[in-house]
Amino acid sequence: MSSVPPQTQVVVIGAGQAGLSVAYYLRRFELEPGSDFVLLDRGPSTGGAWQFRWDALRLGSAHRVSDLPGMSETGLSFDVADRTRPASEIVGEYYRRYEEHFGLRVFRPVVVSSVFDRGADLVVAHGSGETVTRIVVNATGTWGAPFVPYYPGIREFRGRQLHTAEYVSAEEFAGQRVVVVGGGTSAVGFLLELEHVASGLTWVSRRPIDFHEDNELSPESGVAAVSMQDAAARAGAALPSIVSGTGIARTRRVAAGIERGVLVARPMFTAVEQNGVRWPDGTFSEVDAIIWATGFRPELRHLAPLRLREKAGGISVGSGASWTDPRIFLAGYGPQASTIGANRAGRMIARQIMAQL
Ligand code: FAD
Repeated sequence: MSSVPPQTQVVVIGAGQAGLSVAYYLRRFELEPGSDFVLLDRGPSTGGAWQFRWDALRLGSAHRVSDLPGMSETGLSFDVADRTRPASEIVGEYYRRYEEHFGLRVFRPVVVSSVFDRGADLVVAHGSGETVTRIVVNATGTWGAPFVPYYPGIREFRGRQLHTAEYVSAEEFAGQRVVVVGGGTSAVGFLLELEHVASGLTWVSRRPIDFHEDNELSPESGVAAVSMQDAAARAGAALPSIVSGTGIARTRRVAAGIERGVLVARPMFTAVEQNGVRWPDGTFSEVDAIIWATGFRPELRHLAPLRLREKAGGISVGSGASWTDPRIFLAGYGPQASTIGANRAGRMIARQIMAQL
């Protein structure tokens, strides 16, 4: 791959669903990929964060994965993709064909370390040097910023602790006593996978699990979750957890897990000790591993020199645009943090960019 151009009009950081969607619309507006705009991604391959997800994760086991804009032209659709294959493989392959079909040239692996303001221009510092640009679209997702809440004793634990981002497969926990922390779909997936592999399995959650009676996420809960995210983003506040807005769909698989007792969460432990966890009633359980399925935060470290962060803990963003610096767009942030939201972001942001150029 040739080197990243030193100058362009738009730099898109991240080639996941959000970055590709923005790139698709920029190209439709007749900007030339690789010269008028440049897509940078630190991943070794196609697929955005999906390329790193654990093998047992299948499409449709969490929520619906929406096709990228214009994807029907490639003859592919996630709706009819093979659900026996790992989601990581399918998404990687479909994104690769999408990038090829639309000539969306992605420079990878290129890590963006910082973005800073140089008067009229922005400078994107990356593994191959610097690129001077007028506009930056940050589409870096959340996978690189795993969140683990603090609990007393967490650093004393002698067993294994890992976050969703490090989970590979249930086999690693064969014969172990495992605690899974978190109230989202990842926690549910891990518990169902570990059920017949771990020697002991406990689910804990900081709040009661909100199981929907419907088989899938109701449109109302989806809308409510998106508007909570939007309100926080506009206010420049830290983003709320997505699952606190959506809950978990009581699919047949989930209902059967509840029935068997594996999907019954108990309230959080009060402390982690060297060999296990202490419960609110003072009792103790020995534990070999704790899996923190406690979510992610937006990955924005490289934007720190721009000083976009508000006192409320987030960045003020409306319709994908920073309210502090109109040259900065955030695709896939807050209300756009789903595959369908990322698609919408693409169109919305590309239009605003064209109005500025
Ligand atoms: P990502 O896919 O994370 O892409 C971001 C890209 O930015 C990556 O390729 C990364 O390499 C790159 N990057 C990051 N930092 C840098 C940097 N500093 N320099 C260069 N490149 C960088 N959504 C759904 O709609 N349906 C689902 O079923 C679903 N399941 C999910 C399951 C899990 C376990 C998780 C964690 C999320 C799930 N989501 C789902 C949410 C989903 O990840 C998003 O909807 C969508 O795929 C995110 O796209 P994105 O482009 O914003 O981010």
